[in-house]
Amino acid sequence: MNDEKFVEVKNLRKVYDNGHEAIKNVSFSVKRGDLVCLLGPSGCGKTTILNMLAGLLSPTSGDILFDGKSVVNIAPKDRQIGYVFQNYALYPHMTVLQNVMFPLTVGQHKKSKDEAEKIARKYMELTQITELADQKPGQLSGGQQQRVSIARALVQQPKILLMDEPLSNLDARLRLRIREEIRSLVKKVGITTLFVTHDQEEALSIGDKIILFHQGVIQQDDLGQNFYLNPNNYFVANFVGNPVIDNFKVKVADGKVTAANFSFDVSELDKNRFKRDLTDGDYVLSVRPENIVPAADGIVPAEIKDVELIGRERILKFDHEGQQVRSLVDLEQPVKSGDQVKLKMRYDRVFLFTPEGERVY
Ligand code: ATP
Repeated sequence: MNDEKFVEVKNLRKVYDNGHEAIKNVSFSVKRGDLVCLLGPSGCGKTTILNMLAGLLSPTSGDILFDGKSVVNIAPKDRQIGYVFQNYALYPHMTVLQNVMFPLTVGQHKKSKDEAEKIARKYMELTQITELADQKPGQLSGGQQQRVSIARALVQQPKILLMDEPLSNLDARLRLRIREEIRSLVKKVGITTLFVTHDQEEALSIGDKIILFHQGVIQQDDLGQNFYLNPNNYFVANFVGNPVIDNFKVKVADGKVTAANFSFDVSELDKNRFKRDLTDGDYVLSVRPENIVPAADGIVPAEIKDVELIGRERILKFDHEGQQVRSLVDLEQPVKSGDQVKLKMRYDRVFLFTPEGERVY
């Protein structure tokens, strides 16, 4: 039993035939029963990793272990994996029931027709598609097709479920609903799941933990809230968060942090939050929009250029050296476009990064 490291990836590398190193020495583990999101922008290597886990691609080097045993030399069909594809990959000429039964009617795990149907119906019930049993995929909505593909992935009772951007073909509202359904379903079944997405909000809402990739390298492997409150580097701080984080170019010298039109003493920063010594030089100061807001004792002079309503809150937009800065305030705040304000920062919530993106504070 390897509950803590039910899935373990060790020093995994993938160099494609054209010489492109898509995955660079990646290591991570997944706890039994967890739903983990592999997050990152297009091209960062998420699908490459999923395909290596599934056995559809072989690693250039490194190891993949399921429940403590290496699987790199095991054929895909023997890895006990369920795979849900972005485009569902249903068989158009088969009914929903036939699609879901299909994995049980072929190969070495072949079941009798009655038994296959019984198992298929159990998973169709779990995914709430029982009433669609006799329909063909072409007659179903995107959300319904996605449920069929999930039921089909689960019938073989795989040990691990891999999902590659399973919600990307659905409209915004349906995505929200189906992602809740997926989370509650995989928790009910208790299956260890790796879920690929490029959508940070989706990852934050669904994942027990998130592994964020950029250019084939893990940037942070952590609980969702830590990407927000304690990002490892500039890339993470800017990839996660909506509205996106505000960035200011600053200089540190003579005990002061100085930007184009404001400055404050280094002593205002919280001594306990430094990751390393702050030496004089250029930095990027980043602050989440809710931590830089208009206040009587603010220090950043700014004119509100635009106000955007988002539900319970409003985003105030400012220009700073040609870049947009955002402030997130309560709906009740009496502010409007054209107002001159002073923005106050929560120094215990700002981040300082080197120009190379390393976190210093
Ligand atoms: P997306 O979200 O766009 O699907 P991804 O994060 O899943 O992106 P991958 O598909 O894993 O990214 O690709 C990672 C990198 O490897 C990309 O730069 C891609 O161009 C490259 N790549 C993928 N497949 C091949 C291949 N067969 N040969 C060469 N390079 C490849």
